[in-house]
This record gives sequence, structure tokens and C-alpha cells, in this order.
Amino acid sequence: MVSEQHTIHVGGAWRAAASGATRDILDPADATTLAVVAEGGAEDTDAAIAAARTAFDEGPWPRTPVAERAALLRRVADLLQRDREEIGLLESRDAGKTLEEGRVDVDCVTDAFRYFADLVMNESGGRVVDAGSPDIHSVVVHEPVGVCALITPWNYPLLQASWKIAPALAAGNTFVIKPSEITPLTTVALMRLLAEAGLPAGAGNLVTGAGDPVGARMSEHPDVDLVSFTGGLLSGTKVMRAAADTVKKVALELGGKNPNVVFADACATDEGFDTAVDQALNAAFIHSGQVCSAGSRLIIEESLRERFVAELARRAEKIRIGRGTDKGVECGPLVSAQQLARTEEYVSSALAEGAVLRAGGERPDGPGYFYRPTVLDRCHRGMRVVREEVFGPVLTVETFRTEDEAVALANDTEYGLAGGVWSADAGRARRVAGRLRHGTVWINDFHPYLPQAEWGGFGKSGIGRELGPAGLAEYRETKHVYQNLAPRPVRWFAG
Ligand code: NAD
Repeated sequence: MVSEQHTIHVGGAWRAAASGATRDILDPADATTLAVVAEGGAEDTDAAIAAARTAFDEGPWPRTPVAERAALLRRVADLLQRDREEIGLLESRDAGKTLEEGRVDVDCVTDAFRYFADLVMNESGGRVVDAGSPDIHSVVVHEPVGVCALITPWNYPLLQASWKIAPALAAGNTFVIKPSEITPLTTVALMRLLAEAGLPAGAGNLVTGAGDPVGARMSEHPDVDLVSFTGGLLSGTKVMRAAADTVKKVALELGGKNPNVVFADACATDEGFDTAVDQALNAAFIHSGQVCSAGSRLIIEESLRERFVAELARRAEKIRIGRGTDKGVECGPLVSAQQLARTEEYVSSALAEGAVLRAGGERPDGPGYFYRPTVLDRCHRGMRVVREEVFGPVLTVETFRTEDEAVALANDTEYGLAGGVWSADAGRARRVAGRLRHGTVWINDFHPYLPQAEWGGFGKSGIGRELGPAGLAEYRETKHVYQNLAPRPVRWFAG
């Protein structure tokens, strides 16, 4: 066990920040100190990148047979399951989610490690290309990209780290990861498991610290070959700019302003109505709305509005908020004072712009960064709360009369991450899904994802994909090897 202030992992050793600086990690349920971690700086970042560079250029990991790399990923999956309760609890306390959500996150990342172990085994061979002559042997092969800089946000710290680390390692890369400075604890725990599973020293490195300088340095550093970033739009554009001078590969998973489109025919039966309302709550309020794919824009057929919004508001008021580890709690706090203030500000501006408050709209008494699940009716595109990502428990309601109008509203965002369509008419649901400019579309459901299906966004929701075969491809270079078995002069030049 390492001391809690030794949270920087470089070349296989745990250390404190070179400057000696530390940061208090707060429990968002009561703002007390949960842990103290090292506050890394540029010097620590350079050391971690140097270790990853040496491990890539000279170390065993990129040259480890694919079956051994897959076996290591499977050991990590087993260790995650062994420590499921401990890590689930840590995630719950650090990120403010319910204990059950913490456990589910551990299960999801376990699946991701197993999925990439299987995928890399199945996709380790090259592809022979017919070059049109028996004298030519032409093959396309995949190789690791090199040193990967992985930067993650605070809402799903363990999950986002795993969606990057598992494919990066499967493909034979080395990496430096920087978790969010607000929620680094489960990434520290995951790094310990990687070491226990036998990852060679230097293949995986971790720097805890702020976006600037640590993330900024990772993005611009000449010895980094790829930067994979998950976080907000503003930081993502900074990462892309910083990576430009060295022409790094850049993968961005950014925000979303995700529509949940409900046609009246989905609610023709009581059961259909109940399901659509229930899932609209789930879409908007799980993890207090701090989900990149949160269905924060309810787009509902005009004829259904009154009945649907009334029931939604009634149930939203009943959501039990509290410390994520307390029994019966359904929604935890927001992650920070800043996130709470941001949410309050968006709700005030929406009300000033004419939105009608149907539920929530306030913080409860007591400590911690809690905010009540909030439903804002009579919203429209002119409002900031409809255009911008709140990342809090705030659901806006817009209405439509025709299918074309529903599609236009759903696509009326600079983002394009995910969306839901609810209809009892399968043809209509598929037709609308086909017209949505979003990376994932759920029909008669919201939020499920599969490790074998790509995740990512259209528009300003990002560049590239995580999970699925494309999620592995992000971490691979493609090389064409053309071998002439009977070389002869070409005589292009006569002299
Ligand atoms: P953020 O952009 O503030 O921070 C994300 C990470 O970037 C953190 O580790 C932070 O320290 C780092 N960072 C900040 N400035 C940086 C810089 N200049 N250079 C390099 N790194 C820097 O985002 P957040 O508030 O932690 O997370 C919330 C955002 O993440 C939301 O917009 C959400 O939609 C998005 N998100 C997207 C997905 C997805 O899959 N598309 C998943 C989860 C979260």
C-alpha cells in the first residue's frame, strides 16, 4: 500500500509531487476531506512521459505477444471483480454517485477489459492484399501508436480511464494518464491493480494534478504520439490546439445536449406511458444529470405535454437525494461547489427567459453540493439552458407537432452525442433514428451502451470513437508492407 500523498506513478514507483504540493479531495456529500493526493506539475509530467517513452522504445510491453497482453487485461478484470465493493465504494464517495452506481461502474469496466482482451486476440492478424502479381506479397498490419496521453473527467472516472487504458494496452502502447483533479482516487486504485496484474514498469504511468499544467503539458509534449481526451468542449479545443504543433493523433470525447424525443403513440397504453416517463427520469437525472449522454432535452408531442410533464414532475419531486452510500438514496450530490453554482445559474437564467418551473429548482438545506431534480417546461431554443450543457439535474421540455419538427428540434444542437426516440410505430422510430445526427440513438430505451458498440459523437461532441473495433483502432497505426519476391530494375530512367 502506498501513502495516499504518493499518488504519482512513474516508471513503476509511487511518489509525491516534485514540488511537494498536495490537494485535498473533497467528499461532495459534505465537503469534508476524503483524501489528500499529490498535486503534480510540469516536472512530474515530463518524468512520466519520459518513463512511458523509454518503456515504449526499449521496454517489453510493445513486444509482448498479443496473447500475453490479452491475459494481462483479463487478470485486471478479475482483480476489479475481487475489489468490486472497495472500488465501487471509493467511486461512490469520490464522485458522489450512489453505491449501486459505483458497483455498476466496476462491472462495466470489467466488461471493457474482457472485451478488449477478446477483440485484440481476434484482430491481431494482418490483412493480405492482392497486389496483382504472384511475385508480390502485400500485407497490412497494425502496430501500437506509441506513447499515449490519456486525460479523463470527473463524472465517470474509473469508466473513462478504463475505456482508454484497456484498448491502449491491448494494442501494445504505453501511457500516461491524468485523471480529473476532482476525482482521482479510483484511477490510483486501478493503477495499483495494473501493477499487481504484472504490467511492466513504465508501461503505465499516472500524474495526479490540474488540467493546466499537467494535461496541457501532456497535450503539447513532443514525446507523446497520441492524446485521448474526455471532458468539456472548451478544454477539448485547448488540447487539440496544443497537440497541433507536434501533429499528434487526437481523440476527443466531449459533451452533449442530448434529445429524448417522445411521440404520443409511445404513450397510448398506461404501460407505455409509465415506461416513457420512467425512462425520461432515468435519462435526465441519473448521477444527478452529470452524464455526457444525459437526456436533458425532452422533446415531446404537443398533445401529450400536459399529462406527461405533470407525471414527470410528480415523480421528479419524489427522487430521494442524499449521500450516495446511504440506504434508499437515488441521487447523490453534484461533484463540486462550482458545478452546483453552475446549475443554479442555468436555472435562474432559464426562469428569467420564461421557462416554467415544474419541479425542483432549489438546493435542499444542509451541507454538500446537492440540487433537486428540476423540470423546466415551456423551453425553447432561444434559452441558454436548451443550447448549453448544464451537467446537472435539469430537464428542459420542448414540444413538436410533426415528425419533421421533432427531428429538427432534436438535431438543433452544436453537439451530437446521443439521443432517444420513443414510438410504438417501429417504422417511424427507425425513420427518425436514421435522421438524427448523433453518435448513438436509443429506440424505446435510454442510456444502455455495449462495449462492442462504438461510442462517440457527431459535431462538437468529439472526434473518434471509444469501445468497439474503432475504439481499438484509435490506438493502432496501420502499416502496409509490400514485399517484392522477384525484384528487377524498373528502367524508369534510361541512362
Ligand atoms: P473538463 O474539460 O473540465 O476536464 C476534463 C479533463 O481535462 C480533466 O482531467 C481536466 O483536468 C483536464 N483539463 C482541463 N483543462 C485542460 C487543458 N487545458 N489541457 C489538458 N487537459 C485539461 O471536463 P469535466 O468538467 O471534468 O467533465 C465534464 C465534461 O466531460 C462534460 O462536458 C461532459 O459532457 C464531458 N464528458 C464526455 C464524455 C463522452 O464520452 N463524450 C464522457 C464523460 C464526460
